[in-house]
Amino acid sequence: MIRAVKGTRDLLPPSTSVWNHVEAVARQVFSSYCYQEIRTPIFEETQLFARGVGEETDIVTKEMYTFEDRDGSSLTLRPENTASVIRAFIEHRLDQRPGVQKLYYMGPMFRRERPQKGRYRQFFQIGAEAIGSESPAIDAEVIEMVLEILGRAGLSGYQALINSVGCADCRPLFIARLREELKDKAHALCGDCQRRAASNPLRVLDCKVEADQPIIETLPSILDYLCERCRPHFAAVRQYLDDRSIPYEVKPRLVRGLDYYMRTTFEVVHGSLGAQNSVLGGGRYDGLAESLGSKIPSPGIGFSIGEDRLVMAVEEGFPARGPDLYVAPLGEPALRHAAVLARDLRRQGFSVEMAVEGKLKRSLELANKLGARFALIVGDNEMESGVYALKDMASGDQSNVNRAGITERIGN
Ligand SMILES: [Zn+2]
Ligand SMILES: [Zn+2]
Repeated sequence: MIRAVKGTRDLLPPSTSVWNHVEAVARQVFSSYCYQEIRTPIFEETQLFARGVGEETDIVTKEMYTFEDRDGSSLTLRPENTASVIRAFIEHRLDQRPGVQKLYYMGPMFRRERPQKGRYRQFFQIGAEAIGSESPAIDAEVIEMVLEILGRAGLSGYQALINSVGCADCRPLFIARLREELKDKAHALCGDCQRRAASNPLRVLDCKVEADQPIIETLPSILDYLCERCRPHFAAVRQYLDDRSIPYEVKPRLVRGLDYYMRTTFEVVHGSLGAQNSVLGGGRYDGLAESLGSKIPSPGIGFSIGEDRLVMAVEEGFPARGPDLYVAPLGEPALRHAAVLARDLRRQGFSVEMAVEGKLKRSLELANKLGARFALIVGDNEMESGVYALKDMASGDQSNVNRAGITERIGN
């Protein structure tokens, strides 16, 4: 038997209805904030991600699906979508369009991570990018928008974390200080941290290993190192969030895994997801467009929601929904009559399932298993009189209704 590849999975009904719900909610919210969809290819030239995500990141060094194409060029399945969106932004000169470019995307990403709960090698992200302004007002609006998506999707009990990771002027000073501190402390940390202490000390702050936490707590805070441009920027982001009564926690250790972030970074965590409790992450990436070849400074900010995890978190409270109506015809003439009736009700917007074979008893059992709200029996008498037996599946009550009565009853 051929099975799905390790780390991938099939999304099946009824779970897919939760996916559809989350995506529909996201599209609604994006539209109300004037974001429009962008769809970029699933694979790109490898160097886009090497440059855009960062040569030193775990994603690029360990997790990418890279392959040689038949002409010898190196291609990679996208491990995230921001680099692709920025590439498209530059390639199609979207900077020439009026206003801040507000783009959203949803789709599969690919990383060869160790499979664990809520982590897949093909996983789905819903994300957005606002490109063309460095104003902290955009940062606050983006954070507000993403929380709006989570709330409307049905997530509650989440917590928003924010931080500033400084800029090219102030961050190096902090990193130098961190490196200094880690000289004495790194030996007591986990293997990854010991490696990062030399290569990418910021990432030490990100370590999730329990035993490392007491030591990491003693490391300096980047917020004490922000320059005179970054400090007011972060203060303004916080002010704008306060104006909206959006609760958040400032978390100086929130540095995020990708090299391109600067200034505002944010994350949303949710208790039900365990150690991998992050539902989404995002941040500002002024300078990314220039590093990918843009001649015009194009500061931006974005986020991506881990859709797999969001679905997992909201799925439990999600009501299973069967058909509005199950039509059970008795015999061939009734089937032909019922088919027309079913089509008309479907056109009215109802979900209607119809038995195409089998006895009435079996049909009603099936209607029950499918979770239909109502069942309608159509036989010779019903066709002749135009009065049908409509059964409320929850209560078991049966009533006689005419054609208009069907719409009225199931429409409530
Ligand atoms: Zn700065
Ligand atoms: Zn560690």
